[in-house]
Amino acid sequence: MTQGHRVIIIGAGILGLASAYHLLKSQAGLDLLVVERLAASGRGDTARSAAAFRDMFSSPVNRQLSQGSIAFYESLEKDSHRIGLKKIGYLWLKTAGQMAKWRQALAHMADAGVAFRTLEVKELTARLPELRPIDLSQGIFGLNCGLLDPARLTRFYEQEVLKREFEVGNLYINRGITGARVGVQPFGGFKMSGSNAKAGGPDYVRLFMEMKTVAEKL
Ligand SMILES: Cc1cc2nc3c(=O)[nH]c(=O)nc-3n(C[C@H](O)[C@H](O)[C@H](O)COP(=O)(O)OP(=O)(O)OC[C@H]3O[C@@H](n4cnc5c(N)ncnc54)[C@H](O)[C@@H]3O)c2cc1C
Repeated sequence: MTQGHRVIIIGAGILGLASAYHLLKSQAGLDLLVVERLAASGRGDTARSAAAFRDMFSSPVNRQLSQGSIAFYESLEKDSHRIGLKKIGYLWLKTAGQMAKWRQALAHMADAGVAFRTLEVKELTARLPELRPIDLSQGIFGLNCGLLDPARLTRFYEQEVLKREFEVGNLYINRGITGARVGVQPFGGFKMSGSNAKAGGPDYVRLFMEMKTVAEKL
């Protein structure tokens, strides 16, 4: 590692790489180093994430952050960077008590341009027949929310950062290289190196699936 980098980012997960990308975008030529302990980027929580995003927040700061991020993701898709953006929405199910607590926050969300609809129990059960509406008062459906592919977004940031920074390499201590092709194959792994999905391993098939989370109150 060379001495004297102005910025050192520990961890090449989605946050580290997004930070590197935006820092380099605002300060071209910034002397920046990203350090990652695993064999490749985006193999920590980023690889485990369902990568659902929403702009429905009661906090104005969270709203601004998420609205800015969603606009950025849309601009990437528009510029033909395929990050698997799917605006499938985001559904909150609320009891009458929760609705009463959220009424003011919902008004603030509407003022801040958050697009959502409230759904009555009848409409919810018609659309989701498996739903058991115990205590359910209303649903709040965010229209500007959805899912993206965290691996593709990670790759986008990494490629953009590497366009500006050319010092790159893998350092292996007391082991041979895996032989896997970067960005094409998951690293084969040696003695459970890293926490990423291994080719042929139990969580490998998840990489090709779209996860859905269903919550039911029993
Ligand atoms: C099951 C699950 C589902 C989730 N679903 C969602 C969701 O739907 N929507 C959502 O917004 N978020 C979701 N999250 C949260 C989201 O995944 C995390 O907030 C996000 O991935 C964090 O990114 P990160 O870069 O901080 O962390 P990571 O992706 O974990 O990256 C951290 C990196 O730092 C490296 N590192 C750590 N220590 C060192 C060190 N000392 N030296 C060098 N490198 C180091 C690690 O190896 C790793 O690569 C989910 C998380 C999980 C686990």
